[in-house]
Amino acid sequence: MMDADFFRRWMELAAAAVEREADRLTELDSAIGDADHGSNLQRGFAALVAALDKEETATPGAVLVLAGRQLISTVGGASGPLYGTLMRRAGKTLGDAAEVTPAQLAEALRAGVTAVAGLGGAKAGDKTMLDALEPAVDALGESFAAAAQAAERGALATVPMRARKGRASYLGERSVGHQDPGATSSALLIAALAEAEAA
Ligand code: ADP
Ligand code: MG
Ligand code: MG
Repeated sequence: MMDADFFRRWMELAAAAVEREADRLTELDSAIGDADHGSNLQRGFAALVAALDKEETATPGAVLVLAGRQLISTVGGASGPLYGTLMRRAGKTLGDAAEVTPAQLAEALRAGVTAVAGLGGAKAGDKTMLDALEPAVDALGESFAAAAQAAERGALATVPMRARKGRASYLGERSVGHQDPGATSSALLIAALAEAEAA
């Protein structure tokens, strides 16, 4: 079972990973976007960690809803509303349970990913964050480590794809050969989940 402490640890580890990898995320976004993905997420996750320090979050659902709200209001760009929706929807799906099982988290994240697809209109193979998130939720039932591996593989698999959504899609064929920044940050987020479990 995972409690609110576990979820706060997950968000803190995700924030640390974003901090560590911000330059790389921005570099990836400079190749096929507008070179702001790292700084967008840095700003958002810093605000999220500050909000977790300040606000009371008694349940896993409350942690994720707060995370979603912070990401929506501070990240900006395309990824802010999308990551915010992922977290908020997952948090609302968990409801007000004090502890949740890995299966409940898998179900909640699946609802979040479905909401992201609904908001952004992307599907698998469009070279977006969904190419990491979908295989991750599929593998979550197995283990968090398996989900982290699936997300990492999914991010790498975006390299040969042609972007069909977001800024990168403006490049058409020239988007081929570059790893999607959002799929890369999604892999960091799922890796942080596996780290939180190991911690
Ligand atoms: P912006 O492109 O507005 O500057 P970011 O650089 O923060 O926003 O985020 C870009 C990432 O957002 C992309 O790499 C991609 O993974 C993701 N993204 C963009 N549009 C969509 C969409 N419609 N559906 C899912 N993910 C998307
Ligand atoms: Mg960008
Ligand atoms: Mg931008």
